[in-house]
Amino acid sequence: MLTIDDVRSVPLFSTLGVAELERLAETSADLHLAAGEFAVHEGGERALYAVLTGKIEVVKLFDGIERRLGFRVPGTIFGEVPIAFGTVFVGGYRAAEPSRVFRVDPKHYYAIAAVSPEVVAKVGALARERIGGLQGIAAEPPKARVTMIGHRWDTTCNTLREFLGRNQITYDWMTPDAPDLSTRWPGVRPADDDCPVLRLTDGTLLRRPATRDVAERLGLQTRAQLGEYDTIVIGGGPAGLAAAVYGASEGLRTVVVEREAPGGQAGTSSRIENYLGFPSGVSGDELASRALQQARRLGAEILVTRSVARIDAATRQVYLDGDDVVRGQTIILATGVSWRRLDVEGFDRLIGKGIHYGAARGEASATHGLDVHLIGAGNSAGQAALYFANHARTVTLVVRGESLEKSMSRYLIEQLRTKANVTIQPRSEVVAAHGDTHLTAIDIRDGANGEVGRHDCGGLFVFIGADAETGWLPAAIARDGRGYVLTGDDVVKAGRWSHGRDPYLLESSAPGIFACGDVRLSPVKRVASAVGEGSMAIAFVHKFLQQDAR
Ligand SMILES: Cc1cc2nc3c(=O)[nH]c(=O)nc-3n(C[C@H](O)[C@H](O)[C@H](O)COP(=O)(O)OP(=O)(O)OC[C@H]3O[C@@H](n4cnc5c(N)ncnc54)[C@H](O)[C@@H]3O)c2cc1C
Repeated sequence: MLTIDDVRSVPLFSTLGVAELERLAETSADLHLAAGEFAVHEGGERALYAVLTGKIEVVKLFDGIERRLGFRVPGTIFGEVPIAFGTVFVGGYRAAEPSRVFRVDPKHYYAIAAVSPEVVAKVGALARERIGGLQGIAAEPPKARVTMIGHRWDTTCNTLREFLGRNQITYDWMTPDAPDLSTRWPGVRPADDDCPVLRLTDGTLLRRPATRDVAERLGLQTRAQLGEYDTIVIGGGPAGLAAAVYGASEGLRTVVVEREAPGGQAGTSSRIENYLGFPSGVSGDELASRALQQARRLGAEILVTRSVARIDAATRQVYLDGDDVVRGQTIILATGVSWRRLDVEGFDRLIGKGIHYGAARGEASATHGLDVHLIGAGNSAGQAALYFANHARTVTLVVRGESLEKSMSRYLIEQLRTKANVTIQPRSEVVAAHGDTHLTAIDIRDGANGEVGRHDCGGLFVFIGADAETGWLPAAIARDGRGYVLTGDDVVKAGRWSHGRDPYLLESSAPGIFACGDVRLSPVKRVASAVGEGSMAIAFVHKFLQQDAR
């Protein structure tokens, strides 16, 4: 229990009167931390902490990598910046050895501050000093973890850039003819056939590497640590990450298998405006990176660049691409949906070379000063048009219907109207794509008169809806005609349930295998519903483990 003497041993509080010391001793939390345990995480709510025994290290994530900024020893405090400026914690504070700290909540700090101007002055001075230090760190240019030479229209180079961007790895990319190549790439210029070539910070050179190889070299997890898990989550979008956060936090051995990068479709969205708790919207990257950190911190394993090739519904064995097999007491399918493909002359040849399905946000900077086109009339197309409007010279939204009103949210239509360089072309269809090494022009047919016109095109982004790609699932998992997984009542109605009890709400026709998010047959396709279902799936996992696995 915290005593007056404990509080007084911290120099900041040593001059306080007995009443204030008593107040702090009675109201502060007394934290006994094991080595490695956090007193507060980066982004944590403001409070003032004082160290009584042990040693606390200050850590902060830069570009996804943790860096140690210093230590706090007995008698010192931390949290002066959040408490003085009303912010969250910009770094995390973790016990480097068994430690004891006490936490003063804001309400009690302000009560003490009201009667002790000396405490306010000391905390304020310390906060200003620390802000100076943080400014110095923030002013350091972010060091690229990967430097890459590759051709603009090389699909391997594009895949690697997309992979690095989506996994939040900072990289410096240049084409082999970049005028400043010799200053940005020390040493011999690689041969054209070797490109894309990647140089890592330790000097390792990788020539035309596979994404998984790059992932492993960068320390991203690609292999499961265990042979068996309480739950295996397939897909690392909002639904899968929510399942990982809830599963791991509730003590389940949880692994997520993600074929690309965590975040799913939401990770490609420039701004999600309607997710609760983010009044000014949040970018998909930001949401994904926060969820990923949270899932990892709580102990979930997240494998990237691994695709699930098949599962055995009876044994719940999961076969990853390559040879690895892991077994789950339960499996959660959170594989979302994939963009529908357009069957148009010239398309397949130019995919990744100017034509992209979805937003391909990494391409935005390459569209500077160009005329780009988007196909689609839904919210995803609208968001992407707004995003590309800040980069491209013109953005044309090619829409098959009469108008956007039926398919796009009003707020997006209104925002599009305010952009001088965005044009909506209704009753129109792209009928061909042209270019040798990359896309240069497209043909658009005007539905009103049937005329086809050719237009210069510096980038074409396609958003024509999505379908569940679940052809790889076993027949034991019932789906509808478009691949969406049936769960709960729908399984019973389809006559696909023969188990002794009713299926749980998110349970598929194979007991112990659940589906959540966009891949599940349901009319709602939203980030919030995916997150809700991901967390709910864990409740059913618990029920299944208690009742069926016995
Ligand atoms: C551009 C865009 C903007 C959007 N904006 C909004 C918005 O503003 N508000 C909103 O509420 N919703 C929005 N949405 C919809 C929202 O993003 C989705 O509803 C949500 O992402 C669904 O989450 P999910 O986890 O079910 O699936 P997904 O996000 O699709 O994630 C599924 C994941 O599973 C992985 N995967 C698939 N198959 C396998 C396999 N076999 N092995 C391993 N991994 C696999 C995929 O790589 C993917 O990462 C937007 C979508 C897009 C594309």
